[in-house]
Amino acid sequence: MTAADVAVVGGGFTGAGFAIHLSRLAGRPLDVAIVEPRERFGRGVAYDTEDPDHRLNAPLQIHFVYPDAPDHLPGWYAERGGPEAFDPEAMGPDGNLYPRRGEFGRYVEEQLRSHMAGNASGSTIRHIRARALAARRSAAGYRLDLSDGQALDARLVVLAAGYERPRAPPPFDGAVSGHPGFIADPWDPGRLGDIPADARILVLGMSQTASDAIAVLLRNGHTGPITAVARRGLRPRPKPETAAGLPPDIVDRIRRPVSLFTEAHGRHGTALSLLRTLRAAVRRAEAAGGDWFGPFGDLRDSVWEVWPALPLVEKRRFLRHLRVWYDVHRFQLPHQIEVRIAEAEAAGQLSFEAAFCESAARDGDALSVTLRRRGSGGRRRERFGAVVNCTGPDLRPDRSDNPFIASLASHGYAAAHPTGIGFDVDEECRALGAGGHPDPHLRIVGPLTYGAFADQQGAPFIALRLCAILPGIAAALRR
Ligand SMILES: Cc1cc2nc3c(=O)[nH]c(=O)nc-3n(C[C@H](O)[C@H](O)[C@H](O)COP(=O)(O)OP(=O)(O)OC[C@H]3O[C@@H](n4cnc5c(N)ncnc54)[C@H](O)[C@@H]3O)c2cc1C
Repeated sequence: MTAADVAVVGGGFTGAGFAIHLSRLAGRPLDVAIVEPRERFGRGVAYDTEDPDHRLNAPLQIHFVYPDAPDHLPGWYAERGGPEAFDPEAMGPDGNLYPRRGEFGRYVEEQLRSHMAGNASGSTIRHIRARALAARRSAAGYRLDLSDGQALDARLVVLAAGYERPRAPPPFDGAVSGHPGFIADPWDPGRLGDIPADARILVLGMSQTASDAIAVLLRNGHTGPITAVARRGLRPRPKPETAAGLPPDIVDRIRRPVSLFTEAHGRHGTALSLLRTLRAAVRRAEAAGGDWFGPFGDLRDSVWEVWPALPLVEKRRFLRHLRVWYDVHRFQLPHQIEVRIAEAEAAGQLSFEAAFCESAARDGDALSVTLRRRGSGGRRRERFGAVVNCTGPDLRPDRSDNPFIASLASHGYAAAHPTGIGFDVDEECRALGAGGHPDPHLRIVGPLTYGAFADQQGAPFIALRLCAILPGIAAALRR
């Protein structure tokens, strides 16, 4: 048995950021244990990659660990020699840098390691290289069972477990899921590399994950046809050419007493009135020679206030009807990937279709899939040498394969958010368990709080939330 003041479960961007800021603010030496099976910190699903085509989807400047030191990461990047030294393609046409995601992971890891070596509170930050499997309440807080056989007692548990690897969606979740041609994990470079160069490939999804996989296939010299399908056929919208070159100061845009959107357009209680207001703002911007990007950015940077204020029924309505539209405007592709995809599309090698997969069956070393087109309802059966699952990570606790998440849910220590996405938490990220009471011993941070905050996916939004809640957490740990 081992013990710590704080057990952080998950050492990706969120868990690393939590430990860094806690050690700066704690005010007294704490023992902080990060439970993380990966060797490297700060990486997680998004940044634990060395693939040269996995790039940040927004400019370098808005990816920060320290919101109050906006020049820190650009300075670090420049010190390493900047794009000229190791990544000449990093510069986008808008004059912003879009470095490889692995570089950002390296930066976050370096920051954490420097705080492990020494920090303002004299806290100890250590790595327990294991998976947390289960939690039980204890006299002081919680006792965790770890995959290395140890038990870990902690006064405060911080769940920063982020995303699950995507699961096989129907109809690929049955007998087909074990077929060698079905690639459930699109971030597994080995599996993508094993696909024969001339194979006909079906990509499930059209979002950033799909674009990542397609870019890797094309770089590997894939010559066979690639078809990407999604039910509604919606693809990430390119950033308009008229959009401002340098991003505005996102920290000032988010850290305000009243959000930008509310200040300009008042408060809205329904998803539909938000949509109408946004559309009217876009029309006005376009009439003045601008584009949708500015008004949309005002809403994106106001989600911290707009989302919690929506009644539950409206949140559900948004998730059902509008989320997919929101997401294709919210998440841009890095320009470098956009170009490669456009070239393959123009050459006729790559196509996108609004369709869904009705059935799938093993067909020797290939998979036979029935595709149903949106609108016409027309069906066709095609044989694919490989099917790559790019449907994206799942944040529903009730579908999680993560035993620790299942343990928290089954004991009622943390309850799924009423939208079904992520866990329910209060403003301070305290878990709201089955009884609805905030638990001061269990905090949940990062993407698993999507239902509560909706904006906890991008790095800047996560970092800002951590910085908002950590003074209160540090004060509670001093008591
Ligand atoms: C492919 C992809 C690309 C992205 N690109 C960008 C981008 O360009 N810019 C941006 O701002 N955001 C991007 N994002 C959003 C990104 O998720 C966040 O920026 C952030 O990385 C989330 O980090 P996290 O630590 O919360 O989660 P994760 O990255 O999922 O890390 C969670 C960690 O928890 C560990 N873990 C899980 N369960 C357990 C357990 N039971 N016990 C112990 N450890 C556990 C995992 O091993 C993992 O390391 C991207 C997301 C994805 C998926």
